[in-house]
Amino acid sequence: MARAVLITGGNRGEVRSLLDRAKELIEERIGAVTKASAHYESEPWGFEAEQRFWNQVLEVETALEPEELLTATQSIEAELGRDRIREGAEKAQSGQHYASRSMDVDILFYDERVLLTERLTLPHPRIAEREFVLRPLCEILPQKRHPESGATMEELLQRLTQQPAKISEPNKTR
Ligand code: ADP
Ligand code: MG
Repeated sequence: MARAVLITGGNRGEVRSLLDRAKELIEERIGAVTKASAHYESEPWGFEAEQRFWNQVLEVETALEPEELLTATQSIEAELGRDRIREGAEKAQSGQHYASRSMDVDILFYDERVLLTERLTLPHPRIAEREFVLRPLCEILPQKRHPESGATMEELLQRLTQQPAKISEPNKTR
């Protein structure tokens, strides 16, 4: 059995009930959820702040190999991640078979595995720069160490949030 850490998230539709549904499907298809963070709402950023993002981090015990796990998370995304009304409208408008998703399931860690394949990078490459990942991670696994840097999740969050404010370039024009 391996221990994987997943993050579910979305910003469309009934996001919080979709997070609950994703957790149920993870239990059914991937394995027992051994730790679950609260649902975290992230601060609005950029121009798309109308509907906020919600995320949850889950620790799961699984018999699936990493790529099988990715196939499973992607099938859960495909099943839940679509706002079908919006999708229909987008498809009709674009004439294409693509529409934006409202459920994203990423694999943050798989044991201490470091892996780089066409489909899968482990650990997830952007953990250290994302507060919305580190906050829920720190709730359930504060002492977990990043297999590459050796830093704990708490240390990574501290580094990210306690950076001194960037001093802006002096204005050289008068
Ligand atoms: P994002 O998660 O960045 O919003 P997507 O969910 O569309 O974007 O994922 C893009 C691709 O990232 C997927 O097709 C998947 O193969 C790849 N990928 C690489 N590493 C991971 C990982 N650790 N977890 C999830 N997807 C990954
Ligand atoms: Mg993803």
